[in-house]
Amino acid sequence: MQLSVKHLLGIRDLIPQDIQTILDTATQFKEVLQRPIKKVPSLRDVTIVNLFFENSTRTRISFELAEKRLSADTVNFSASASSVAKGETLLDTVNNILSMKVDMVVMRHSASGAPHFLAQHIPAAIINAGDGINEHPTQALLDAFSIREKLGNIAGKKIAIIGDIMHSRVALSNIYLLKKMGAEVMVAGPPTLIPKYMKEAFDVRVEYNLRNALEWCDVANVLRIQLERQNQVLFSSLREYNLAYGINKKLLDSLSKEIIIMHPGPINRGVELDSDAADSKQSIILQQVENGLAVRMAVLYLLSGGREMNN
Ligand code: ASP
Repeated sequence: MQLSVKHLLGIRDLIPQDIQTILDTATQFKEVLQRPIKKVPSLRDVTIVNLFFENSTRTRISFELAEKRLSADTVNFSASASSVAKGETLLDTVNNILSMKVDMVVMRHSASGAPHFLAQHIPAAIINAGDGINEHPTQALLDAFSIREKLGNIAGKKIAIIGDIMHSRVALSNIYLLKKMGAEVMVAGPPTLIPKYMKEAFDVRVEYNLRNALEWCDVANVLRIQLERQNQVLFSSLREYNLAYGINKKLLDSLSKEIIIMHPGPINRGVELDSDAADSKQSIILQQVENGLAVRMAVLYLLSGGREMNN
């Protein structure tokens, strides 16, 4: 089992067979995670450094746990994004990693393209754990895994990505992946949060009315408003956003069919999702987190060269 890429920098670089291989391998790791002993020695002697220049809860814990379940040696490094100058930090990083002789690097950075820069300078395999507003490939893979697990297939399914499309790396990675795997994709939200070129550049539907989007889709992937990335006023207030684009149980119950609710986290309850919808039977948000572990194990395993999985 081999991927066509040496690094996972973005879904954009993958071919559909890579995505299929990762999802199938993740299915096997999910099975491993149900066993009484959840650890396999597949990445023994592989050294991985987790470089987090930006805050993270789920992604970081998920990667660390995935590495431990695969018996890798891990080193963690975090830096507050605001305290370091971007160019200098990346060059320092390169030199530090080179001297530590690590095999793989998992990297999150607030600058789009930071992991691509690293990949050009060091021999280690790089996994992008989120770069600025560009991509968050393992999130899209775990979202796809969760859709496939719930609906049996991705091809032909209608997925609406709702909210702050403009500043979301989750949106971009999901669009690339879902289109490559044959899903129908819609982006929905206020016009100020959806770039004008979406339809032409990505061949997706664009919808500004929330009810229309929810009536159309099988799955709604709801995004957080990325306030930390907005330097201008793009909507009047969070309260008004909730009135026009917030999803609650009453709205879900009024639709003509039962749809699935997803969210990459962190949820801003009462803004894009009300608690009665986030915690409803239709929500698979916690399954997404659970699946993230198996998907990240699959990515680490495949990029390490795909050695024996079970012994
Ligand atoms: N956790 C996701 C990310 O890192 C989504 C979010 O922050 O809203 O991009």
